[in-house]
Amino acid sequence: MLAATSSTKTPTAAKWLVAHDRQRGFFRLSFSLWHFFIVGTARTAAPGSVFSEENLPSLVATKSKFQAIRGTRDLLPPETALWNHVEETARQVFGTFGFGEIRPPILEPTELFARAVGGDTDIVSKEMYTFEDRDESSTSLRPEATASVCRSYIEHGMQQLPLPVKLYYIGPMFRRERPQKGRYRQFYQIGAEVLGGTDAPAIDAEVIEMVMTFFDRLQLPGVQLEINSIGHNAENCRAGYVARLQAALREVRDKLGPDSQRRIETNPLRVLDSKLEQEQSIIETLPRIADHLCDQCKAHYAAVEQQLGMRGVRYRENWRLVRGLDYYMRTTFEITAAGLGSQNAVCGGGRYDSLVELLGGPPTKGIGFAIGEDRLILSLEEAGKVPATAGRDVYIAWMGEQAFATAIRAAKTLRSAGISVELPPAEQKFGKALERASKLNSRYALILGDNEVAEGSWTLKTLADGMQQKFAEPELLDFLKRSL
Ligand code: AMP
Repeated sequence: MLAATSSTKTPTAAKWLVAHDRQRGFFRLSFSLWHFFIVGTARTAAPGSVFSEENLPSLVATKSKFQAIRGTRDLLPPETALWNHVEETARQVFGTFGFGEIRPPILEPTELFARAVGGDTDIVSKEMYTFEDRDESSTSLRPEATASVCRSYIEHGMQQLPLPVKLYYIGPMFRRERPQKGRYRQFYQIGAEVLGGTDAPAIDAEVIEMVMTFFDRLQLPGVQLEINSIGHNAENCRAGYVARLQAALREVRDKLGPDSQRRIETNPLRVLDSKLEQEQSIIETLPRIADHLCDQCKAHYAAVEQQLGMRGVRYRENWRLVRGLDYYMRTTFEITAAGLGSQNAVCGGGRYDSLVELLGGPPTKGIGFAIGEDRLILSLEEAGKVPATAGRDVYIAWMGEQAFATAIRAAKTLRSAGISVELPPAEQKFGKALERASKLNSRYALILGDNEVAEGSWTLKTLADGMQQKFAEPELLDFLKRSL
C-alpha cells in the first residue's frame, strides 16, 4: 500500500552485480583518497584507539571492498565510551522518574507506521525501509518507536497496570533521508512515553523536566527549550484555526515558494516550519494558534507553563512549533543544542491523546519525546566532552614459561578486582613489551621474568615517570587495588 514498498525492495543478485561492476571504477579512484584519510587519521589518533599508529598496518592491509552503507556508520572506541555514558545517564535519570525500559523489535508491520505516522508523510511514503517478507507480508524497519510502544501497550493490555505506564527506549531508527552532518539513515533515539491515566498538565511538565534534567546531567551545551500548544482537533480549536490559516495563506500564495504553495492545500500547518528566508516576514503576519485555542486547551497550556515554572524549567514560547498529524494535540516541544549547524534539534516531543485508539486500543492519554542520540553525542563532542582514550591499568611484561603461568594467574586476580590488564599472548623482548605498554596507554608495567617468579619479588614500573618498585606478590596486588 505504500509507495516506498516497491522502490526499496532488495535488488536481485544479477542487478546487484551490474551495479557493483559500475562502482568498481569509483572504488579504484577513491582508494588513494581513502588511503590518505586512514594514514592521516592514524597519525593524529590517540594511542590505544583503533586508528592509532600501532594498528595502522592492519587497517591498510585489510582495506575491504565492503563499506558501510551510505548514511550508516560504525561507532568505534573510544567514541563508544561516550555513547555508553549517555545511555547510562539516561537510564539513571529516567529511572529516578519511575520509567522502565521497553525494547520493542526493530521490525514491525508496515501498516503500523502507515497508521501511526501517516501514510502520506515523507517518513512513510519516501523514507521507510520496507520489504516484502517471505510470507508476503509488508514489513518495515522502524523509522521511530512511539508507534511500537503504543502497539506494545495494546498488545500486552498495559491499561490494566497502575496508570500511567511510563516507558523509555534506546535504539536505532531507520529513515532514508539525504545524509549530512547530524542526519543519518540509521540513527539512534532515546525516547520516553507516558501512557494512560490523566492528561494532567503536571505530566507534560514532568516529562519535559526529565529531558532537561538528563541534558543538564550531561552538561549539554547551549540547550534551548521551546514549547507551544497546538490545541485539539475540533472546530472551536485547531481545526478552526487551520481553516483560517489556510485562507490567509491562499491570499499570500504568490509570495511563497513551491513547497509552501503545495502545503497550503495538503498540510497548511507545515508552512510554519519553513526556513526559507523570503517567507519569514510573510509567516510573521499569519494568524497564530494561541489566539484560537478553545478554553480547555488554553487552560491546559497555562497550567503546563505554571508547572514548568514551579520546576525551574526555562523555556521560550514558539507559536510556529507545530506537528502535522491530527492525533498530536496540546503540548508540543522541541529542544536544540549548540554545535550542530542546521540540524540542531536534539529532541522533539508532544502529547498524542488519540494515537493508541487509532491503533485499535482503548482511549488513552499519551505524551512522549524522542532525543536524537547521534546529535546529542555530536554536540557533546563539539564542546570537548570526549572521554579519555581507554588505556590499560596494567601491562604484564612476562618472559619465560614459568613467568607466563604466574602472569595468567596474576591477570585473573587483578581483573576480578576490576583492574584492566593486558596480557600479551606471546613472549616479547623487554624493550618491545614496554613500548607496547605505553602505546596502549598503560599506567603500570608489571615485569615478570622467571627470576622474579622464583624470588617471589615482582617489579612494577610506573610508565609516566619510569619509577620502579619491588613487591612481594600479595603486597603488589594490594598496592594495585588501592592505587587504581
Ligand atoms: P522525530 O522522530 O522526527 O520527531 O525526531 C526526533 C529527534 O530525532 C530529532 O530532534 C533529531 O534529533 C533526531 N533525528 C530525526 N531524524 C534523524 C536523522 N535522520 N538522523 C539523525 N537524527 C535524527
